[in-house]
Amino acid sequence: MDQDTDSEARERAARRDEAVRGAVEQGLLGPDAAVVGLLDVTGIRESAAALRAAFDAVTAPGTPVLHAFAVKATPLVPVLRLLHEEGIGAEVASPGELALARAAGVPPDRTVLDSPAKTPAELREALALGIAVNADNPQELHRLDALVGSAPSRSPLGIRVNPQIGGGTIGATSTATRTSKFGVALRDEGAREWVARAYADRPWLTRLHAHTGSQGIPLPLLARGVAETYALAEEINARIGRPQIDTLDIGGGLPVDFAAEATAPTYAQYARVLAEEVPGLFDGRYGLVTEFGRSLLARHGTVVARVEYTKTSGGRRIAVTHAGVQVATRTVYAPEAWPLRIAAYDAKGRPRPGPEVVQDVAGPACFSGDLLAEGRTLPLLEQGDYAAALDTGAYYFAHHYAYNSLARPGIYGFAPDGTGGVAFATVREPQTVAEVVAESGGAHPSALTTLRTPGSR
Ligand SMILES: *Cc1c(COP(=O)(O)O)cnc(C)c1O
Repeated sequence: MDQDTDSEARERAARRDEAVRGAVEQGLLGPDAAVVGLLDVTGIRESAAALRAAFDAVTAPGTPVLHAFAVKATPLVPVLRLLHEEGIGAEVASPGELALARAAGVPPDRTVLDSPAKTPAELREALALGIAVNADNPQELHRLDALVGSAPSRSPLGIRVNPQIGGGTIGATSTATRTSKFGVALRDEGAREWVARAYADRPWLTRLHAHTGSQGIPLPLLARGVAETYALAEEINARIGRPQIDTLDIGGGLPVDFAAEATAPTYAQYARVLAEEVPGLFDGRYGLVTEFGRSLLARHGTVVARVEYTKTSGGRRIAVTHAGVQVATRTVYAPEAWPLRIAAYDAKGRPRPGPEVVQDVAGPACFSGDLLAEGRTLPLLEQGDYAAALDTGAYYFAHHYAYNSLARPGIYGFAPDGTGGVAFATVREPQTVAEVVAESGGAHPSALTTLRTPGSR
């Protein structure tokens, strides 16, 4: 760990503590707002700058590089706008994500569409706007053939391949396994030949894409996925006799260490590994697209929840909080794969001093497994305290799961206010109970009782 990442981590933790206290003092968090998401604007800007600097350091001058944030990690318009201002575009995978990127003002030439199930309407819209598209499979490529033949488009187009180099430690986020549902499986019989011919037949196919996976993929495996993609591009260009593939989209997937505060691996480490393993990637012959999600945002979000009650049951200490499966779905359903660090704060939002005891931090949902953390050694939480789930800025509070009709929490961005305090801005309003009813068929209360099948009375 270098000095920089250590001191950066300390400063980030200090900002987070200030923000929790500020949120309690300013009433964003309290008895009537028992769970919130907080976003560290300073930290997000730092990560965006670190990403840009890491690739600037290894690419030949003048190489076009687009860092497109994987919108699914934190699908919030103000976050996308902040990243856009920091020079980061958007990778979208649904009509909703595309609409979010557009609402944030991310221009089409800084947007990439990659989903495994794009409809004809989505493809038509993307090509009309000039958004880059990576075709997932031969059937999608045939749809692109028809669209490209019918109207001119500025969209850079490519194919997503699956190098089938194997998975990481988490099956659900490994996308380069032998049987993955994503991309053209390169090692399947005849597939490599099919891809090469697809490019030779279509001069407008200028990009090649692979995304080896998300959390749980170690750096060497990520680098191998990129190396295989690069080798394929070289092979296809050599065969065609000109550099038709001019841009490689290397996906995202840099893992986050959820067990520690300091960032490891860093973007700089990943870029250096790529520069060693795949030097040709950076010599200026290829433009680059990256699609990082979790590594840009995870560190900068915190779920903070009030401790409503504390109790013991069969000798087990339990703090019952307002954060559980609705904001930390993956952690609750797959705690081994997705553990989160928990920080304890007192009723005024100050870090709780010891002594530390083993306790469970439970959520509000009505099933026994709704636990943010089990058997964790923490300062003893008391009624009215706050428990914070750290590193939850990606794939957590922006991915609400409406179990028990629990309302979506408010999300607030924070930054130093310039006078020693903390300023907050609303990113997403807390959902009201009236909105929960409206989303749950509230406009159609008698839809089922008045439905009559023919012949019934
Ligand atoms: C999810 C996804 C990403 C982002 O992955 P992270 O692990 O969040 O960096 C990038 N590209 C594609 C195609 C994805 O599906």
